[in-house]
Amino acid sequence: MFSLIIPVYNEEFLIEELAARSVRALESFTPNYEILFINDGSTDSTLQKLVEVRKRFSRIKIVDLSKNFGHQAAFTAGLEMSLGNYVAMMDGDLQDPPELLAEMYHKIKDGEYDIVSGKRMGRKGKRLRLTTNLFHAFFKKVSGLDEIENTGNFSMMNRAAVNALVQMKETIRYLPGLRSFIGFSQGYVEYIREERLEGEPKMTLGKLMVLAADAIFSFSKFPIKVCLFLGTLGTIVFMFAGIYVLIAKIFGFALIGWSSTVLSIYFLGSIQLIFLGVVGEYVYRIYKESQNRPIYLVKKFYDAETE
Ligand code: UDP
Ligand code: MG
Repeated sequence: MFSLIIPVYNEEFLIEELAARSVRALESFTPNYEILFINDGSTDSTLQKLVEVRKRFSRIKIVDLSKNFGHQAAFTAGLEMSLGNYVAMMDGDLQDPPELLAEMYHKIKDGEYDIVSGKRMGRKGKRLRLTTNLFHAFFKKVSGLDEIENTGNFSMMNRAAVNALVQMKETIRYLPGLRSFIGFSQGYVEYIREERLEGEPKMTLGKLMVLAADAIFSFSKFPIKVCLFLGTLGTIVFMFAGIYVLIAKIFGFALIGWSSTVLSIYFLGSIQLIFLGVVGEYVYRIYKESQNRPIYLVKKFYDAETE
């Protein structure tokens, strides 16, 4: 059995073509597959469209989540509910071409790799290209994870790797990072990322920034290191400044130092606020994890047994 996981959030115009292309792509290399569409709380007619295509393609299953949990949670739902010995994750906007699944499958089936990810060698369209590349380069550096640069969710894993991945129970999740963290032997197929076929990106800039912050906070000590570095630097600078102030006082050439006083108060005050913010971010994350809520909730699962 082969499983393909596709999260969709308000993609009503895409479902038809997405389903047809995915079925065609999968049937080119295996007769025994399931496609798990995860409806991530869509507010348009995505669910109806899915139910419709399911009448035509009986190997499609729908996991209808109870609300919008975000695409990392949606992928997680798919991973946990998948039955395949091989499982693929793919975005639902056809930016990740389903036709590439065959190539991934042949690579992984030989047994040389446990995980094969799609490596973006460029992309059509300009949106966020620079910021995305910068993020990946930066994240690779601060996280110390190797297999991450320019890979996203698009990937295929064998059962052993999926089982390892679903053991990661953290609430705040960055799957490309986790996928690298679990080890196993990792391979690539290279591809050019397509333009989104239709509609606006459902990962808004805000959501992308939250995702980037999640990645950095969960996989690196970078924010703490910056605080420590600035704190240390500040201490050294102000130690010398302090000595100067004392000497000036002793030898009587101390000036009425309004500007310097005000500036150091501003400077130290803002640094402390930033540090408090960083500490707050960690406290928030600890709180989130300690609540230990489920990552997603299923409203209805449409598979063979439910009808
Ligand atoms: N998506 C989702 N939940 C969300 C946001 C997005 O399931 O809250 C889905 C979306 O429908 C798409 C995939 O995740 O299939 C990737 O989203 P998008 O194309 O907006 O992201 P980007 O291409 O910017 O990574
Ligand atoms: Mg997209």
